[in-house]
Amino acid sequence: MPKQIVPSDIDPTAIGEVSAPPYVRLPDPTRLFVRRAQRLNALAEIDELGPYLRFLAALADVQHGIQDGLSDPDLPETEVRERAHAFGMPPLDRDRVASGAFFETLDRLVLAASAIEKPRAAADALDRLKLATPAERHALVRNVLADAIAADALAEHVYVAAALQLHFARLAACLDASTLVPVGDGACPVCGGPPVSSMVVGWHGSHGARFCACSLCGTLWNYVRIKCTLCGSTKGIGYVEVEGGPGTVKAETCDSCGCYVKILHQHKDPNLDPVADDVATLGLDLLVRESGYRRGSFNPFLVGY
Ligand SMILES: [Zn+2]
Ligand SMILES: [Zn+2]
Repeated sequence: MPKQIVPSDIDPTAIGEVSAPPYVRLPDPTRLFVRRAQRLNALAEIDELGPYLRFLAALADVQHGIQDGLSDPDLPETEVRERAHAFGMPPLDRDRVASGAFFETLDRLVLAASAIEKPRAAADALDRLKLATPAERHALVRNVLADAIAADALAEHVYVAAALQLHFARLAACLDASTLVPVGDGACPVCGGPPVSSMVVGWHGSHGARFCACSLCGTLWNYVRIKCTLCGSTKGIGYVEVEGGPGTVKAETCDSCGCYVKILHQHKDPNLDPVADDVATLGLDLLVRESGYRRGSFNPFLVGY
């Protein structure tokens, strides 16, 4: 049975500790994927989705390993980014990704992914991707960036999504965090992407603050608690968790837009990862869906729920 928690039950920010969180924490691609791989492997030991989580862990290792010697990503010109800023747009334009630097990343990822152990469907999809025409590859890229992956075509998109995550994380890492400003509810201030989940963190100086995690570039942006991360409503917010669980992952439900996004209590367990723990808590999705809420976040590795 789900456990409903009213907002007043949530731990307040630790009293006595000054919390002055930065607005944005940019990803460090040299650490992001290796840590995610470790988390996925740890989750694979305890979760019934073990084989899939192990595959994603191997894919995260590939995302990490192929960075060595990869060409620098092609950051948009300063003037383009300044113009975007002036219009309240994020500096990275998701529609202009189909560049040489990205396809070099994808080629490397496809090659390296050939060597990892994978489920049958993932192996077949990789074979098809190797033979795909440039136009077909562009179409897969567009689907991932539009958050429009059909559930029955998940396997085709997993590798493309992994390459896009790496490409955008490397681009995001080149930006100056102090120049970034909010671009709207439910949108990453770096690339405009939706959150994959949000996290209450225990970082020094930010204890108890909540950050949304971008599903594409891995940027974390500060967002007040008890507020829908999608539509911005502060009314009708509730929390659901699986009874008997560790209490570190909950679903934040919103009656205004009818959606939910998971909230990870990373201050209780620093190993939690916004992407890995979202996939590994599929049971929570099934539970929340019974209450009529729709999944409002996007995770290219968890589609169709
Ligand atoms: Zn982003
Ligand atoms: Zn909402």
